[in-house]
Amino acid sequence: MSKRILIVSLAVTVLVLLVFSVTSVEIYHNISVEEADEALETYMSIYENGAYSADQNGVDALSSVLGGVRVTFFTSDGSLIADSGSPIIPDTSISDSDMNTLKIASELFSKRDSEITETEVMYYKRSGDVIVRISVVIPSTLAMYGRALPHLIVFLILDVLLCTLLTWLATSFILRPVKELAASAIGTNEEIKANYKELQPVADVINKKNESVRQMQSSKDEFIANVTHEMNTPLTSIRGFAELIASGSLNKEKTQKAGKTIVEQSARLSGMITQILHFSAIDDDMLESYDVDVSELVRELLSTYQPLLKDKNLTLTSDIEDGCIVATRRERVTEILDNLVSNAAKYNVRNGKISVTLRGGKLTVADTGIGIAREELPHVFSRFYTVDKSHGENVGFGLGLSIVRKICDRSGWKLGVDSTPGEGTEFSVNFRG
Ligand code: ADP
Repeated sequence: MSKRILIVSLAVTVLVLLVFSVTSVEIYHNISVEEADEALETYMSIYENGAYSADQNGVDALSSVLGGVRVTFFTSDGSLIADSGSPIIPDTSISDSDMNTLKIASELFSKRDSEITETEVMYYKRSGDVIVRISVVIPSTLAMYGRALPHLIVFLILDVLLCTLLTWLATSFILRPVKELAASAIGTNEEIKANYKELQPVADVINKKNESVRQMQSSKDEFIANVTHEMNTPLTSIRGFAELIASGSLNKEKTQKAGKTIVEQSARLSGMITQILHFSAIDDDMLESYDVDVSELVRELLSTYQPLLKDKNLTLTSDIEDGCIVATRRERVTEILDNLVSNAAKYNVRNGKISVTLRGGKLTVADTGIGIAREELPHVFSRFYTVDKSHGENVGFGLGLSIVRKICDRSGWKLGVDSTPGEGTEFSVNFRG
């Protein structure tokens, strides 16, 4: 940050210094020319007030009266009569264009000729049969730049030193509150407040981030606590029965029963691990969506649910509208329907009914089962939430509906539930959001 500020301020001051130097040289040069013009006008009046012969003696005399400036006499048609000094512009006659100007400007006109290092400012005047030219030499713009350069270099060095010092002081002064804010944000769970109102948006962002990290952390802690708790039950059971078998104290029948329990509990454990893996895999699901014919897929899936219906002699009916195309992946819809239908079967009554409907982009799974109490409804989609806390044989781990909710949230689908205890439950997924 300090480096950036230093570079910017250096660039700005160097640019300003250069612009200032160029402008100063131009202004100084223009002033010099104006002063030369004024001096020449005075010189010309000195010439007019004196009597100078139109020959070499005359130009030399006038030149020495004027302090050695260059004086040149021409004939009225522009040919050289006499020249007092070493010319910078070694002209021996007046150019045609200057002659024309002399005619137009009646008697007096000024002109400047520039060489690389010097500018010659000249005044012409027609005086009877003679054209008089008086000229002075001033440094050219380039020469002025040459003279200004060493000063400019000194200024530039001073500028760099001053800028570095001031930038260091300014940045440490300006950035101190930012550093203090950052320091106050580290290792605190409290909401931080900025001392300056300009920094409050930064503090707000940090507070928001801290809050989401806190939530993630507590959700992770809760998840780990739930997983270990849920795993502990089947593991304790497996261990208990395994120890009994190992002690050899059980007769054949009891050993078989214990073995059966171990098989069931380990199946439950592995089912839970599969669901947990599944649950976290949804977060990493970055796979491309494609158009899925949900109508066709639901029909296909319904034919696979027969084994679920046998135990309680359930009836499955369906009303599937054709042509429901959704941009998703088949496995996402399959996961949702599998969970909803297996719950509808699991929490149903003997000879109960399950109906699956797909209309207007909305999938509904309704059952005539035990239902869910109104106060339980808001929680059924939470991880590890089960209405029946006994964790009996038929009760799951409370992950199925949270998987359904996660898929719906990520896909932008609206998930709904309605239930009347003792009458049944209806879950719906609206693919149109
Ligand atoms: P589980 O594996 O326990 O079924 P879910 O997340 O699928 O987990 O469901 C959470 C809880 O919601 C279940 O334990 C059950 O109490 C309740 N539930 C889910 N579906 C139904 C339903 N169709 N009828 C009655 N209760 C249900």
